[in-house]
Amino acid sequence: MRNVVIMGSGCAGLTAAIYAARANLQPLVIRGVEAGGQLTLTTLVENFPGFPKGVQGPELIELMQKQATEFGSEFREGNITKVDLSQRPFVLEADRERLETRTLIIASGASAKLLGLESERKLLGHGVSTCATCDGYFFRGKDVAVVGGGDTAAEDALFLTRYAHEVCIVHRRDQLRASKIMQDRLRRNEKIKFIWNSRVKDILDADKREVSAIKLSDVKTGEESLKPVDGVFIGIGHEPNTSLFRGQLDLDDLGYLITREGSKTNVPGVFAAGDVKDRVYRQAVTAAGSGCMAAMDAEKFLEAEH
Ligand code: NAP
Repeated sequence: MRNVVIMGSGCAGLTAAIYAARANLQPLVIRGVEAGGQLTLTTLVENFPGFPKGVQGPELIELMQKQATEFGSEFREGNITKVDLSQRPFVLEADRERLETRTLIIASGASAKLLGLESERKLLGHGVSTCATCDGYFFRGKDVAVVGGGDTAAEDALFLTRYAHEVCIVHRRDQLRASKIMQDRLRRNEKIKFIWNSRVKDILDADKREVSAIKLSDVKTGEESLKPVDGVFIGIGHEPNTSLFRGQLDLDDLGYLITREGSKTNVPGVFAAGDVKDRVYRQAVTAAGSGCMAAMDAEKFLEAEH
C-alpha cells in the first residue's frame, strides 16, 4: 500500500514528488506516456526562476527528477491505465500491475494538439513549436507562421510580434474562433498577416532539421502554395489528459480537472496539479507551484487520518 502515487513526471509531478519525498511519504511516480512532460519538447527555457542564462527544458526535468530521487521518490516507467476512485484505498492499474494507494496526485498534464504531419514531429524543437512563450525569443527578426484560429493562436501570434518580423496566421476557415477583443488586437497589429481557408500540408525542411517554408493547400480550390517561414507555431489547442477520470472526477467543459481549496478534486484524497487542471497559465513555474500544493495537501490529508 502506497501513501502517495503521482501520475505524471513533468514539472508538476516532479515537484510534488520532491515535496512528498521530503515529507517522508515515499511517493511512487508513474512517469506516463509523455515522460518528462512538455518541457522535454522545448529547448532553452529562459523564464524559470533561478537560471539567469536559461536552462534546456530536458535538463531542467532531469535535475528535478534527480532532486526527487535524492529524497527517496521511486520512479516507474509506464502509464496508469485504469483507476477506481470509488473506494479507499484507491486502486490503480499501471501497465497491468495493480497498485493500492491512500492518496493520488494527478499531474498527467495537457498535450498540445498537433497537426499530425510527419515533418511536424521531426521538426519539433527545431523550428516547430507548440509554445510561443517558451520559444518566441528565438525568432527575432524572422518570419513565422501560427496555425489555428482560436485564442491560443491569437495570443501566440500577438506574443510573437514582439520578436518576429512578420507573423502569419494560417487558419482553415475564413473566420477566427478567437474572442472579439483578441481579433481586434490582431487586426490592429501591422506585423500580423492572415492566410485564410488554408491547411498546412507539410513543413519543410525535415531533412535539414530546420524550417524553411510551409506547404499550404487552399481548402476551397485545392490549390497548393509554398510560404517561406523560419518557424511554425502550432496553436490549435491543448487537450488535458483526463480521459481516465471521466465519470469519476469533476471536469470542466474542456475536460480539465476542477480543483478547489488548493489542489483538491471532488474525491477526498485525490489531488491535481499542473496543466491537467490549468487552462490559463500553463507555465513550468506555475505547474511546479501547484505540484508543491498538491503534495502539501496530500500530506495534510494523510496526517488528518491518523
Ligand atoms: P480552440 O478555441 O478550440 O481553437 C482551436 C483552433 O484551432 C480553432 O480555430 C480550430 O479551427 C483550429 N484547429 C483545431 N484543430 C485543427 C487542425 N487539426 N488543423 C487546423 N486547425 C485546427 O482552442 P484554444 O485556442 O486553445 O482555446 C481553448 C480555450 O481556452 C478557449 O475557451 C479559449 O477562449 C481559451 N483561451 C483563452 C485565452 C485568453 O483568454 N487569453 C488564451 C488561450 C486560450 P476551427 O475554428 O475551424 O475549429
